[in-house]
Amino acid sequence: MAEKTKKAEAKKVEKTSAKKTTEKSTTTKSETKKNNMLSDLSSVNKLRLLYELQILDSNIDNIKTIRGELPLEVQDLEDEIMGFDTRIKNVVHEIKEIESNIAQRKIGVEKAKNLITKYEEQQKNVRNNREFDSLSKELEYQGLEIELHEKTIKELSAKIKEKKKEIEATKAMAADKKVALGDKKHELSEITSETANDEKALVVRANEIKNLIEPRLLTAYNKIRHNARNGLAVVTVKRDACGGCFNKIPPQRQLDIKLSKKVIVCEYCGRILVDADFANE
Ligand SMILES: [Zn+2]
Repeated sequence: MAEKTKKAEAKKVEKTSAKKTTEKSTTTKSETKKNNMLSDLSSVNKLRLLYELQILDSNIDNIKTIRGELPLEVQDLEDEIMGFDTRIKNVVHEIKEIESNIAQRKIGVEKAKNLITKYEEQQKNVRNNREFDSLSKELEYQGLEIELHEKTIKELSAKIKEKKKEIEATKAMAADKKVALGDKKHELSEITSETANDEKALVVRANEIKNLIEPRLLTAYNKIRHNARNGLAVVTVKRDACGGCFNKIPPQRQLDIKLSKKVIVCEYCGRILVDADFANE
């Protein structure tokens, strides 16, 4: 929240309580005394309720934070495992293609060998040198063909070895992730079963309190809470400072806060300040 808005928010809350005090001052003296006592009492109650609401909301926030990350982590792990499985499937397919390529090459070698046998037989029965030379060239060519096929088969076999290693490594990674996934799923189900009832009870109590707090104050509380990074709208005074932004609070203001007669907000961060003793109750 911008500093200006914070200050305006602070003024608004103070104005609200100031207005209340002015209204009270128009009644008769004895009534005033009585009303002031009542008003003091209700102010204290009001602040106590606000503080209790803050504690409840913070606890609900905590539960949501813990659970809020786990489903995402589970989803991430499931996605990763699926990615690994896809990778393995793809590599298996690649290996099959390479194997069929090797099989083709082997057939090529057999064909060349057969041709060589055939040409060697023919060479025995040539009628002239020209025929002999022509067959020699064919033999040489088929010999080169065999060499080329065998070189390629060697390379492809090495490739398959690499691919198989890749599959093993991917399987190992997937196995690790599966263990992690099992743990996370277990953790999530435990948290969900553990906190579901707690959260329900917290929400019920928070709603009860919200019904007891005047709407304007509740709106202010929600606004401050929404804009505070840690979700804190009501804080106690800690070591002479605001428990929200840690800026020093002057002694007179601390005294006013301790009296709990009105809603006092931090002039720096706009959070509602309450007596430190509230935290011990
Ligand atoms: Zn502050």
